[in-house]
Amino acid sequence: MCGIVGYVGSRDATPLLVNGLRRLEYRGYDSAGVAIQENGGLEIRRAEGKLDNLVRVIAERPLSGRSGIGHTRWATHGRPSEQNAHPHVDCGAVTAVIHNGIIENFHDLKAPLVEAGHRFSSETDTEVVVHLVEQELAQGRTLDEAALRVLPQLEGAAALAFISVKDPGKIVAARISNAGAVIVGYGEGESFIASDIPALLEHTRRMSFLDPGELAVVTATGVTFRRLEDGAPVEKAVQDIQWDLVSAAKSGYKHFMLKEIYEQPRVVSDTLIGRVERESGRVAFDDDLKLTDAQVKGLRRLTLLGCGTAGYAALAGKYLIERLARIPCDVEIPSEYRYREPVVVPDQLVVALTQSGETVDTLAAMQEAKRQGARLLSFVNVMGSQATRLSDDVIYLHAGPEISVASTKAYTAMLVDLYLFAIFLGQRRGTLGKEKAAKLLADAFHLPTLIDALLQEEPRIRALAYRYHQARDFLFLGRGMNYPTALEGAHKLKELSYSHAEGTAAGEMKHGINALIDESLPVVAIALQDSTYRKMRSNIQEVRARAGVVIALASDGDEEIEGQADEIVRVPDTNELLSPALAVLPLHLFAYHVADRRGNDVDQPRNLAKSVTVE
Ligand code: GLU
Repeated sequence: MCGIVGYVGSRDATPLLVNGLRRLEYRGYDSAGVAIQENGGLEIRRAEGKLDNLVRVIAERPLSGRSGIGHTRWATHGRPSEQNAHPHVDCGAVTAVIHNGIIENFHDLKAPLVEAGHRFSSETDTEVVVHLVEQELAQGRTLDEAALRVLPQLEGAAALAFISVKDPGKIVAARISNAGAVIVGYGEGESFIASDIPALLEHTRRMSFLDPGELAVVTATGVTFRRLEDGAPVEKAVQDIQWDLVSAAKSGYKHFMLKEIYEQPRVVSDTLIGRVERESGRVAFDDDLKLTDAQVKGLRRLTLLGCGTAGYAALAGKYLIERLARIPCDVEIPSEYRYREPVVVPDQLVVALTQSGETVDTLAAMQEAKRQGARLLSFVNVMGSQATRLSDDVIYLHAGPEISVASTKAYTAMLVDLYLFAIFLGQRRGTLGKEKAAKLLADAFHLPTLIDALLQEEPRIRALAYRYHQARDFLFLGRGMNYPTALEGAHKLKELSYSHAEGTAAGEMKHGINALIDESLPVVAIALQDSTYRKMRSNIQEVRARAGVVIALASDGDEEIEGQADEIVRVPDTNELLSPALAVLPLHLFAYHVADRRGNDVDQPRNLAKSVTVE
């Protein structure tokens, strides 16, 4: 899950690497480090904790050099300490490596190296690789030849990059499995590598993406690609990335999360634009969705996969698709699906939801489904990412770069895309009439305005968050379309505030959760005026009868709820199927403000990272 950067060219490498790491810090923040080639030697600076600590170390002991690599770590093997920080070097400190992922067989590889006299200075799995490369370089091989001999010995998940003073002016980067993207950026007389697009946008939009099993030899004047299996050359397309740097910066907001919440009206507009055919009123996705009408008609089952927040979007997707297209849907936790011998039936579509397109559990589940013959569709935000390459069909989320570890706008984009997809399916299967579809789509086009209106409520939601920020436990209740919203509200509060929060289907309360209710438990009840409203009202009564504190999310204009809840947050009216995209917004803001009030690092919550590239 770490962030990797690299630079070769004629500029001072250190500030470029540190800037790149700044944009990747959301991927891991246990430690950071750089290795720079300087006057024929290798200089390393590393520091435990956040990137600012590394910046201080570099200020005390400056570096200069025109090529180097940098890393921000999410520890898997070995404590978060300076000793375990990447880059790691060989015995002679002439070669350095940075690594994203886990080398599962590092014990086996390490034993003979120790026997041969190699000195290890960290507890990481990573260090073994640089000692293996050292052995190959000692035979007079180039850095790429050495890497080509070493990398096939590694088992597990890894993206790696090397530099060596034995083969200067060159970075060798490789991707040995699904885990850990490696992107190459092309500049004028300079080249870059990084794990994610935002780290490169400042310098170039021309990028190539490594596939698993590929290696790149990166120099100032060009990049060549080779296959790890046999060293054969690979031709790679250069892609022109449209994201702009402004959308990857905080733009005056205190945190990326807040900025991303505020971007949602635009994200929803971007999601809708160009996706409804003017004449027919039918939803049509662009060229990346190749499912034919006949295939849609023949679909017998859908399986939706997603981890964390994407999993809650998947659940909303199930409700939408079953309702509008009448196809049986299951929602699966990818890390369970892949290991439990799942059954794929003929004419089954597997739908993967992943913001980054690099979530390793989701990728593995997709591969399992594919192996069994399922067709794969993915909903992905990051162009060129691994999920897009594994899939037969792709629906791109038009959310722009999402930097905050806690997902907000990508979640909303997933909900709106799933809504469109359910309409798309219903239109082709004949389960959704013309008029109903037209109404659903008109509501969708009105959504950005409603989100804007809801954002005006932020001061009220902040006040609410400040009132309850000390509570140790929270309960979130929802039903129907907003059951997934309750799960997402609880999830967000947990990850950001570090409070315990539980989301549940309100109908389940009487089967256990009721035992938790007392006067110290704030209960957030999503009680919009939809088909489950009456039931939710009863559930609210049950909470109040047990002295629980009720914070209700209620429809604008619902007067009946007055006096029935301790706090009321108003949500503008829209149709029930679209309501999760609105109802989640106050919950995201609530979690944000509770966390901020507690002084937590909102964009980089403890123990977490974005782009989860380890199992
Ligand atoms: N397994 C390596 C370590 O613990 C790399 C982890 C990462 O991806 O940041 O150092």
